[in-house]
Amino acid sequence: MAVNTEAYQSIKKELDAKQVTLVAVSKTKPVEDIVALYELGQRDFGENYVQELVDKQAQLPNDIRWHFIGHLQSNKVKYIAPFVQLIHGVDSLKLLKEINKEAAKNNRVIDVLLQVHIAQEETKFGMNAEELNTAITEFENLKMANVRICGLMGMASFSDDMEKVRGEFCNLKTLFDASAAKLATHHLPLSVLSMGMSGDYAIAVEEGSTMVRIGSLLFGARNYAK
Ligand SMILES: *Cc1c(COP(=O)(O)O)cnc(C)c1O
Repeated sequence: MAVNTEAYQSIKKELDAKQVTLVAVSKTKPVEDIVALYELGQRDFGENYVQELVDKQAQLPNDIRWHFIGHLQSNKVKYIAPFVQLIHGVDSLKLLKEINKEAAKNNRVIDVLLQVHIAQEETKFGMNAEELNTAITEFENLKMANVRICGLMGMASFSDDMEKVRGEFCNLKTLFDASAAKLATHHLPLSVLSMGMSGDYAIAVEEGSTMVRIGSLLFGARNYAK
């Protein structure tokens, strides 16, 4: 088993001291690896693929808080709506509406983060600043009762240029503060800023992250070929 429990303990301690939530990203990893961290007290786990998440959720304890951090297709919302804790990557009004609908069917309110595109790479999902503004305005007008926007999520460029990465996180924090101010006039507190992964979480925390998503530092490198 490749779980690095020492790295877990030290990262967890460091983040607790700064009141930053650690989401352990377990995609492609077996349930035994999740159990290893669960036994050390970890409860927040992140997955990217719907089928994999559903399979794991069925096999693991009920008090795990499951975060969906991948790109979610509208037609798959129904599979995770009964139990998901937080959906990080919401990047369209269409998806918000679908989550609202499926949450209502399950008599729940589902918490979500809007994903903002901050990296230079074209491949990363998310809204730009203008789309974010529009989404928030339309969300307020539609008065969706079963979905709650709790904050923003973003991914920095995959780059060794740490000043560039820092600048991208800083941009996201600025957008977060502006969105929070906008929504504060209505009664929707924005409290979660999900940014930072294995390679850049320390910078993300310095720039104001409240939630980091860490996979390979805890579980080892991923092998997608299997
Ligand atoms: C896979 C993934 C992570 C974790 O990446 P690591 O570099 O292994 O820490 C974090 N966030 C998202 C959105 C991911 O897809």
